[in-house]
Amino acid sequence: SYRAYEDHDYLFKLVLIGDSGVGKSNLLTRFSKNEFSLQSKPTIGVEFATRNIHVNNKIIKAQVWDTAGQERYVLLSIHFFSADFDLDFFDLASFEDLARKDLGPLFLGFSMYRAITNAYYRGALGALLVYDVTRHVTFESIKKWLKELRNHTDDNIVVMLVGNKSDLRHLRAISTEEGKAFAENENIYFMETSALESLNVENAFAEVLTQIYHLTR
Ligand code: GDP
Ligand code: MG
Repeated sequence: SYRAYEDHDYLFKLVLIGDSGVGKSNLLTRFSKNEFSLQSKPTIGVEFATRNIHVNNKIIKAQVWDTAGQERYVLLSIHFFSADFDLDFFDLASFEDLARKDLGPLFLGFSMYRAITNAYYRGALGALLVYDVTRHVTFESIKKWLKELRNHTDDNIVVMLVGNKSDLRHLRAISTEEGKAFAENENIYFMETSALESLNVENAFAEVLTQIYHLTR
């Protein structure tokens, strides 16, 4: 039968988002290959990795997308718009304003950003929203990432807030309670992970995939 040629029952697309350096790429390699790297190699181009996991006797293929440096564009847009535009960088009026003010290169940057972002989020059923528990600024960015996510995806997307680098106990800047409270307030899941110590990485991905599985049935 047709099934015999497939290695999975379901294919779920997940996206990893969050500031640069929080550990997205290492969470992905830990999940997909059980590997970790101490050096930070910037992700070039849109990358994804897949892995099959079992949920309720079904095989779910997780296709996980890793950001391709579009963090840069978001940060850029936040800097330029935070004063006047209420962070709404998808507002067409803002784009026209940009063009009118002869901000050509910036405009091009935004167009690229938009094209990449649209492709990135298209069809995503789940998202891991990652911050670094040792850097408060990455936790503050979560609001902006969540807003971007909501702008680009269906309302029923399964979202998990992930506080990564929980192994760096002496450097912690955001408490578990703070992360949990934020997630509860936004009605999203929450977990703390360490890609280095391989702590909760499997659980975080499995929980998101399981919740998607329950929603799609
Ligand atoms: P990305 O920019 O979000 O993809 O972050 P990377 O995965 O490239 O990681 C950035 C840096 O943080 C690298 O030096 C990693 O080795 C380090 N890193 C990632 N995850 C962890 C973790 O769980 N614990 C610790 N201590 N370092 C981590
Ligand atoms: Mg990366």
